Amino acid sequence: MSDKTDGELLKDKLSYAPKNAYETMQEDEISCAYAFCGEYKNFLDNGKTERECVSFLISEAEKKGFKPFGKNTRYQAGDRVYMSNSGKSAFFFIYGKKSVDYGVKISAAHIDSPRLDLKPRPLFEDNNAALLKTHYYGGLKKYQWLSIPLSLHGVVCLEDGSIINVTIGEDEGDPIFVLNDLLPHLAKDQMEKTMRNGISGEGMNILVGSRPFKDDKVSEKVKLNILSILYEKYGITELDLVSAELEIVPAFKAKDVGLDRSLIGSYGHDDRVCAYPAMRALLDMEIPEYSCVCVLADKEEIGSTGLTGMQSHFMSYFLEDIAAAQNVSARDMFRNSLCLSADVSAAFDPNYADVYDLKNSIFLNFGIGVMKYTGHAGKGDTSDANAELVAKIRRIFKDVPWQIGELGKIDQGGGGTVAKYIAQLGVNTIDVGVPVLGMHSPYEVVSKLDVYNTYKAVLSFYNYK
Ligand code: MN
Ligand code: MN
Repeated sequence: MSDKTDGELLKDKLSYAPKNAYETMQEDEISCAYAFCGEYKNFLDNGKTERECVSFLISEAEKKGFKPFGKNTRYQAGDRVYMSNSGKSAFFFIYGKKSVDYGVKISAAHIDSPRLDLKPRPLFEDNNAALLKTHYYGGLKKYQWLSIPLSLHGVVCLEDGSIINVTIGEDEGDPIFVLNDLLPHLAKDQMEKTMRNGISGEGMNILVGSRPFKDDKVSEKVKLNILSILYEKYGITELDLVSAELEIVPAFKAKDVGLDRSLIGSYGHDDRVCAYPAMRALLDMEIPEYSCVCVLADKEEIGSTGLTGMQSHFMSYFLEDIAAAQNVSARDMFRNSLCLSADVSAAFDPNYADVYDLKNSIFLNFGIGVMKYTGHAGKGDTSDANAELVAKIRRIFKDVPWQIGELGKIDQGGGGTVAKYIAQLGVNTIDVGVPVLGMHSPYEVVSKLDVYNTYKAVLSFYNYK
């Protein structure tokens, strides 16, 4: 016998209120989630650029039996293949029991994050200091990049075709770099500026040295000394820097946040916090009913443009090749497919409550966030998922903590994801993802349970029949 009143029973039956996952998950499952996040933190520290994420996850996939896709190889259910696009985006595929014209299950996340790219001719000397000119990448608040430890990651490609990998500032003994802020004592004019205009793009020059080369005859001795160090360490000259992709990123490591250690702070959760659980879910699949794909996209932060962005035909060509090898219709494949566009959402932040619609907000620890649409100012530029697909997602996520909401208040701003580019192929697509605090900052925060529950959600999606 229930001792609830009729009103209480009716309220239970008729109303909907999402729950904090700590109230619904068992203790041993919470321990699993925390252990999973230990591995996620290791991935974050080893994947600070899109290239590093791709090579890390390809090597994880190869350990689990994935091989480069061969157009003329005959594949069977359970076979695992991948295709890398320039080492900056990648597609991982497991053949299902059904041929691909029955549809494939796609989860797509991006692995590029806001950062400072070096300009083609970055190095200069100004009054006995050597600096690197940068061009910021993605939607970042410039002031957040001042006075924090920075590291340098990327590749230098030589004229002869060889590639030199560069990582400086991650090992304990490494030097780091700094983008200096102005002392408050002389910041009278600066402090009057708006946050948008306080720092100029051209002012984001990274300090890399101050020691002159010992030779009275040469000019720009500090710059020469830096060039000499680069030549000694990597065999590169100033001209080699023109054919490089060098990225300045925060030198911080991923760490537990909070006395209860329930959160993770790190650079680049957006969107590695969806890419990692989605890949882990794929790696854990055996022989699925429907073929499963995990997409790691690049260039999302600047509009999914270019060769490695999701507006490129690279993924559709890859899937079309798979359909052609099975002698089935690629169009049927796209029409019958489902896609989780897995990208972060803004977690409700008590410090900035007035930018959120509290009744449609996404909260830390409440599970994977479902967003029927993203966009800005009146659903501009979004892929608005069908109600039928949202209903299917309710079935798929039945045993997983999930919540639904919007980014923030309608007229406050907005955002976009790769969803619309996948929907363009005729694939039924919906946005889902992990809630993040301080998105696009050098140190973003997520909840451990949400990371793990995103893994569980993608696993349910891949297994759904
Ligand atoms: Mn994102
Ligand atoms: Mn982003």
